[in-house]
Amino acid sequence: MHRINITQAQELLRSKKLSSVQLTEAVFSRIDQVEEKVQAFAHLTRENALEQAKNADTRIAAGEEAPLLGIPIALKDLICTKGIRTTCSSKILDQFVSPYNATVTEKLIQAGAVIVGKTNMDEFAMGSSNENSHYHPTMNPWALDRVPGGSSGGSAVAVSAHQCVAALGSDTGGSIRQPASFCGVTGLKPTYGRVSRFGLVAFASSLDQIGPLTKTVADTATLLNVISGKDPRDSTSADVPPPDFTQALKKDVQGMKLGIPKEYFTGGINPDVEKVIQDGIRTLESLGMKTVEVSLPHLDYAVATYYIIACAEASTNLSRFDGVKYGYRTDKTDSLVSMYENTREEGFGEEVKRRIILGTFVLSSGYYDAYYLKGQKVRTLIKQDFENALNQCDVIASPVAPYPAFKLGEKLDDPLQMYLADIYTISANLAGIPAMSIPCGFTSTENLPVGLQLMGRHFDESSLITVGHRFQRATDFHSKEPSL
Ligand code: GLN
Repeated sequence: MHRINITQAQELLRSKKLSSVQLTEAVFSRIDQVEEKVQAFAHLTRENALEQAKNADTRIAAGEEAPLLGIPIALKDLICTKGIRTTCSSKILDQFVSPYNATVTEKLIQAGAVIVGKTNMDEFAMGSSNENSHYHPTMNPWALDRVPGGSSGGSAVAVSAHQCVAALGSDTGGSIRQPASFCGVTGLKPTYGRVSRFGLVAFASSLDQIGPLTKTVADTATLLNVISGKDPRDSTSADVPPPDFTQALKKDVQGMKLGIPKEYFTGGINPDVEKVIQDGIRTLESLGMKTVEVSLPHLDYAVATYYIIACAEASTNLSRFDGVKYGYRTDKTDSLVSMYENTREEGFGEEVKRRIILGTFVLSSGYYDAYYLKGQKVRTLIKQDFENALNQCDVIASPVAPYPAFKLGEKLDDPLQMYLADIYTISANLAGIPAMSIPCGFTSTENLPVGLQLMGRHFDESSLITVGHRFQRATDFHSKEPSL
């Protein structure tokens, strides 16, 4: 029963063939069975969830209809939940309990969702492997000695291992799409501004977006309907009315143009991954899409640009964690300054400190023009690349990552190698466009999942949903599951 997706659960719950309590209990017994192996969660909210499930059953019995009524969902642990810890998988927020819900949490609750727990992540969403969590790493259900990707690795694993029906993650440079690719699930980073970030703990404010991780593209459309829209509490949420994204499931891809960026298929891509992606593109052609070659010439600068901008913004955002306003405070305090210093020294992990230092450096006088300002200029060029490319096609197809899930520990001592895991995903955040990863096949040697990335015009998630859903109707990669 834990295997079902949102669409199936809606049907079974509505027709009263299944109760929310039964479904929630099934999900928790699955968690009991596999959590020790994969460690997808930072903490679980079992009692709360069963309460919410009972409540949902009462609402269903009263004839109420809501898109997620009674359906178990997991949240990445940087999305605020009133009365439930929100840790960002960081020591500094280990005991932090938000006094309010994030807007997306509020919307999920309104839509009837049952919150099963908060998923493990790279500390403050900084990482590509989930190994930067203060608590423990998360394991890839397809190969337990491999990483699930990051930073929303916990959410991707929880969906892939059927520990929830769907989950939310956040994506600053690839953190929804890359773990979705590594774990064989569907993950969407919506357009910047599509989803409110009120109550999302900020990493890099000009890049962060919340989005769904699901078992199917159809589920992504349902979840996006629930969470999207203008929010008066987030001034960066856009005043662009969201369409009904489930309508995009009914459209055909016949005649749509698929752009293939030539720069994404040169250099460091693993040949096995490239083959899966090329086969995926052939499948889309066979469904009636017309491929055109496009160019994104500034790809080579994306990683450097991203790490300058993301670290600069992180250094500013994370200055609020000072032992006074939130979370952990050191015992070693003989002056105000030493209290700040020791709190941050003890409370933050290595990667977070590295980025705060790097970000402070690129913003400091004397270096601001050389790094930060230049980074912003290159960002504009990258954005223009996408505008040009998306003038020639409806959707761009590319790999999500240059390789499949790598071994735990493999890149941990080499931050630069780790940063390169996001080479194909980062540009969509810099440009602000929507981008999705869908399961596209498996590597021939290790049988590891490989995701295909679809990128579209600003606020055109619908085209990604149309193409992704058509692909999933023609293939069964998304319904394959790891044996656990
Ligand atoms: N892996 C990238 C980083 O470490 C992206 C993270 C993210 O999207 N949150 O910054």
